[in-house]
Amino acid sequence: MYEGVVQDLIDELGRLPGVGPKSAQRIAFHLLQSDPVDVRRLVTALGEVIEKVRFCEVCGNVSADEQCKICRDPRRDPAVLCVVEEPKDVVAIEKTREFRGRYHVLGGAISPIEGVGPDDLRVRELVTRLASGEVTEIILATDPNLEGEATATYLARLLKPMGLRVTRLASGLPVGGDLEYADELTLGRAFEGRRLLDV
Ligand SMILES: [Zn+2]
Repeated sequence: MYEGVVQDLIDELGRLPGVGPKSAQRIAFHLLQSDPVDVRRLVTALGEVIEKVRFCEVCGNVSADEQCKICRDPRRDPAVLCVVEEPKDVVAIEKTREFRGRYHVLGGAISPIEGVGPDDLRVRELVTRLASGEVTEIILATDPNLEGEATATYLARLLKPMGLRVTRLASGLPVGGDLEYADELTLGRAFEGRRLLDV
């Protein structure tokens, strides 16, 4: 539709989640009309993300170092592990200040429709992590939707025979929703009221 580089920009922006063709076009023209200094700052931020941000080798959270701040913090309880789908869920739970254990980020949820199975998630890493016997409780904090529930059920069946206490966040979270959209109070209460999973 547009010439060369402008169309390339629109195409690239259109690949971002939640950005449709119209929004991509709007953002592209906003950038074209912006102060080049502002655009450079965006370019720098994007470049730094590629160079400097990686994933924690232990939990899979985003991290500036080999291990994230939470994994390096000796005050965090190593006996309790909270399993979440994405790094944004770690942020949401940290905000509640209810949880003092450590995390494991799966990198998504089981979804047969989208072709995502356990092998596509950091499940093997989770099992490896549990081998030391340090962890005694697993809190399954996957999203309260179909994929999140399927993932929680799968993990509960996998982990319970290992003699772990496997719990799931209490109801009260909006069903069908995304963990990150739950308000801090609701999410905090869901932690307190977590229940043992029967599978
Ligand atoms: Zn970590």
